[in-house]
Amino acid sequence: CGIVGATSHRDIVPILVQGLSRLEYRGYDSCGVAVQAEGLQRARTTARVADLMTQVEQDRVQGLTGIAHTRWATHGAPEVHNAHPHFSHGIGQAPDVATRPARIGLVHNGIIENHESLRAALQAKGYVFASQTDTEVIAHLIDSLYDGDLFEAVRAAVAQLTGAYAIAVICRDEPQRVVGARAGSPLVLGVGQGEGGENFLASDAMALAGVTDQIVYLEEGDLADLQPGKYWIAGRDGRPVQRKVRTVHAHS
Ligand code: GLU
Repeated sequence: CGIVGATSHRDIVPILVQGLSRLEYRGYDSCGVAVQAEGLQRARTTARVADLMTQVEQDRVQGLTGIAHTRWATHGAPEVHNAHPHFSHGIGQAPDVATRPARIGLVHNGIIENHESLRAALQAKGYVFASQTDTEVIAHLIDSLYDGDLFEAVRAAVAQLTGAYAIAVICRDEPQRVVGARAGSPLVLGVGQGEGGENFLASDAMALAGVTDQIVYLEEGDLADLQPGKYWIAGRDGRPVQRKVRTVHAHS
């Protein structure tokens, strides 16, 4: 339902969760946030965004790069284990695999229509699923294609998806990078104005009100690669494309 992602030189968790609160009006049944903090860490809840804020403050979840989500369940009950961000811990035996550090973290808006055949193929490779969502297949698919370059893994993964998606992805091995992609669901890139050049992704420019008004509307099939101080956008084929930065005065 709602996506916020960021990579920065300051703790980004408060901004991610405030971004979610600006998207609350759209409705949701659960919410969560994941960050890079010596590996991927996350907090998820079926309570309100304000409760997520309390939870991350209590647990001192902090990081410079992260992703956050409000979920409106389409596949899988509105329970914590189905809330985003979803993780891939790689191939292994249950329950041991879940105790291993996660490599891929992902949030998703939309519906993946071929999730059943993708899940079967990934299970055959040894991936263990922790949720009933269509979303989790994307996390494992990216992990299965990962070879040191998150952008390349996301590009190859989305080429196998049918359905609608906006996604934001982080990877344990590339701590200052967020990769996004969209087809059938909206996603914008926010160019930060702070020192060090932080950059953002969001499903709606409104999530970034007060953070940046410099917005790039991603087009159908676009991929976005964000690092502090630089970003670039590519088409489905992975080739760079030019997209205009607009000044957007979002009201909240
Ligand atoms: N289909 C996904 C799920 O059920 C995403 C739903 C959404 O857009 O919030 O988890």
